[in-house]
Amino acid sequence: MNIERFKTLETPFYYYDKGVLNDTIAAIKSEMSKHDGYHLHYAIKANANIEVLKVIQQAGLGVDAVSGGEIKQALEAGFDAGKIVYAGVGKADWEINLGLNAGIFCFNVESLEELRIINELAAAKNKVARVCFRINPNVGAHTHANITTGLAENKFGIAMEDMELAIREAEELSNIEFLGLHFHIGSQILEMDDFAALADRINALQDRLESQGIKIRVINVGGGLGIAYDDPDGKPIPDFESYFDTYASNLKQRPGQEVHFELGRAVVGQMGSLITRVLYVKHAHIKQFAIVDAGMSDLIRPALYGAHHEIQNLTSEETREVYDVVGPICESSDVFGKDEKLNACHRGDLIAIRSAGAYGEIMACQYNCRRLPKAYMF
Ligand SMILES: *Cc1c(COP(=O)(O)O)cnc(C)c1O
Repeated sequence: MNIERFKTLETPFYYYDKGVLNDTIAAIKSEMSKHDGYHLHYAIKANANIEVLKVIQQAGLGVDAVSGGEIKQALEAGFDAGKIVYAGVGKADWEINLGLNAGIFCFNVESLEELRIINELAAAKNKVARVCFRINPNVGAHTHANITTGLAENKFGIAMEDMELAIREAEELSNIEFLGLHFHIGSQILEMDDFAALADRINALQDRLESQGIKIRVINVGGGLGIAYDDPDGKPIPDFESYFDTYASNLKQRPGQEVHFELGRAVVGQMGSLITRVLYVKHAHIKQFAIVDAGMSDLIRPALYGAHHEIQNLTSEETREVYDVVGPICESSDVFGKDEKLNACHRGDLIAIRSAGAYGEIMACQYNCRRLPKAYMF
């Protein structure tokens, strides 16, 4: 990290390490190239910063969008509409029309009700919408309860028992072209067994469909690969080799069949740090607080998910002391870390909150009438 350059910038800001992003993308491409028919759509909701998107676009990856705004942002960054997939349980008419006009690769459809509206809107434009059905595989993932998505109790997708019904209806609708199946079981998943369980489930579903003469051209397994929040320096690049190998050895890919992936966090998480300055070191009776100028409005993951990011004092080499690192916002949950061991802090020190490239800047808000954080990539 270029600390001298950081000192010239107003805090708080996101710093995106271009080298880490490039190395991450190179690792993805090299692992994917070992397998035939693998395609990656970067899940743009993790980070939609235009400079970041341009790097990903130039690497030839596609985009997974979950809103019309994200489709617009992807097109703005230069992504080919033919590489955009679009999921979401509540697609509004304008968003569907936007996708139809752009000619996106595929709508990942989450209900029969939605399918019929897409057909109507496509018919009005004399277009054919390509669709995959998002199937809820009822596969759990070992991750935070708020970020599992593949259980029967979650709002996402179509139940497995309704799959044939949906496909039969799609085949009868004249402005729909059925491509295949889509899944996404959750986020920050580090146990490869969870992905293997999904692959097993997909194999069974595919056997069942084939026995009824239904052919699947595309299988989209979603995203969810996690990153090492506790070791951003030791493990800057996620384990893409195990990830893709898990699918290659467990998923029974048919000849000519495409397998699509939608990674978000794993692509951009480790390149980012939130850089903030210490405003005050407050010595209270039972605690010592490092009060910084970034808050939960800039990075909400600790407050929202109880997530922990590594925190480092970039400008002190003094003996470590224990601090609660907190922001200025009027909420008790505005805490980045409790009992953090940091090199002794003083007013003006620069603090890095690491692994903040995914679900950081994009989730920032203006609560307390704060400014949105800036972002720099170098
Ligand atoms: C959020 C999301 C992803 C990406 O999840 P990550 O955990 O960031 O990889 C992929 N697909 C869908 C449908 C999503 O909603």
